Amino acid sequence: MSEAIAGLPPPPPAKPPREASAVIVFRRASDGVEVFWLEREQRLSFAGGFFAFPGGKVDAADAQVPVEGATGLEAQRLVTAARELFEETGLLLARGPSMSQPTLDGLRTRVLTGGGFGAMLEAHGLVVHAADFVEAGRWVTPPYLQHRFDARFFLAEAPAGQQASVWPGELTSGEWVRPEAALERWAAGTALLHPPNLHALRVMSRFSSVAAAAAELSAPPFCDDFIARHLEFQRGVHVVPLLTPTLPPATHTNAYVLGTKELLLVDPGAPDDAECEKLVTVVRELMAEGCAPQAIVLTHHHGDHVGGVKYLSAQLGLPVWAHALTADRAPVPVSRLLNDGEVLALDGPLPMRWRVLHTPGHASGHLCLVDERSSAGIVGDMVSTVSTIVIDPPEGDMAVYLRQLERLRELPLGALYPAHGPVLAHGVARLEEYLTHRAWREAKVLEALGSFALPVGLDALVPRAYDDVGAFIWPIAERNTVAILAKLVAEHRVIGLEGKYRVA
Ligand SMILES: [Zn+2]
Repeated sequence: MSEAIAGLPPPPPAKPPREASAVIVFRRASDGVEVFWLEREQRLSFAGGFFAFPGGKVDAADAQVPVEGATGLEAQRLVTAARELFEETGLLLARGPSMSQPTLDGLRTRVLTGGGFGAMLEAHGLVVHAADFVEAGRWVTPPYLQHRFDARFFLAEAPAGQQASVWPGELTSGEWVRPEAALERWAAGTALLHPPNLHALRVMSRFSSVAAAAAELSAPPFCDDFIARHLEFQRGVHVVPLLTPTLPPATHTNAYVLGTKELLLVDPGAPDDAECEKLVTVVRELMAEGCAPQAIVLTHHHGDHVGGVKYLSAQLGLPVWAHALTADRAPVPVSRLLNDGEVLALDGPLPMRWRVLHTPGHASGHLCLVDERSSAGIVGDMVSTVSTIVIDPPEGDMAVYLRQLERLRELPLGALYPAHGPVLAHGVARLEEYLTHRAWREAKVLEALGSFALPVGLDALVPRAYDDVGAFIWPIAERNTVAILAKLVAEHRVIGLEGKYRVA
């Protein structure tokens, strides 16, 4: 978002990941298997709206529950797996007397309302067996994400005679699904998946035995120290977050690699060559699988979006494409000018057509790319899911920006892939929220202005219009206030004179 590259900030200390367990629970079907997957609630701060397997954080209380065949932390993780499986799906994988479905439902209610999983097991003569949960890999959330987990995956066959169901809460829905069908949803962009869940579905789609599946689940490709290098949340959309000098609290700019054979790279923003190499590595790994990068596309000219374009284009021998109003400020020659409405077609096993939208307001040459099939949008700095988008006049124009946001909402956009912050499965909901917040802020600026008896300057207005945020935000808020005031002046709702403003 900043104009100038001020050098790399020191990498923020990564939060230590929390211990977690997840369960790939399956049942045998006539040919192959079915797994039980869940759609996470949109509002969750980690992987909201994504599809996943049952799982969650390791609780201290999980250490108190005895496990047959395991001790210590290993046993605790198994209890977490069994408890989360029971809480989220109703499947109780513990050995002991069999129980009717109504009894199980009653126990589940009691556990969910704080009754204690261990106490429930003990009261009914049930015990978790290590042999029922086969180790199936370890995944650590990358350090740039706010919520981090060190998750152990287990493969478990669903207990016979029990019904799996999702009760409303953190999960929207859940169902038994053939892994092949789940992968089709992922390819269509209607079920976003984090790397562990994508890998699990791929392995389970060729299930032959528990031992073979567990071995393959435990050895995923493209990982460093259990952290995934390839984040392909939907087919043909890879996210590669790179450390950039950007507006805090954001620390990274998401570069994107689009396509399933012919590839486009979007916004390599890191000024540091070593950081850029992370993107080069991903692209070369895709090239080794037969992919062919075509070009680098820039959403706009800001330093945290173009910092690595020179290095990337040189390393991979790629031309650079952008809007004309970006081209004249890009650090490298732009060989193709992109215009609103044109389509960038990418050949491949899943052919993709990315429609170019010219979306000025934040930057005059700003572009978004929208996948015609899934409506996924690469939205650059139109929306950030982690920081504030600054509309900085004279180039920044609030009225134009808001009209473009409305345009994205009305497409309507599917998944939202921002330059900064986590990806959102449901873009429209966030755009709606964002537009509401912008309208609320405009009203607050107007109200603050009306509270002064005399025309007032920014120095007095900003602290009042932004009294709900910390003073350290005010310098940035001031630029947005100038943009809001310019819009209000144009609408004849505010009168501006020599740096002072009053309500019209
Ligand atoms: Zn920007």
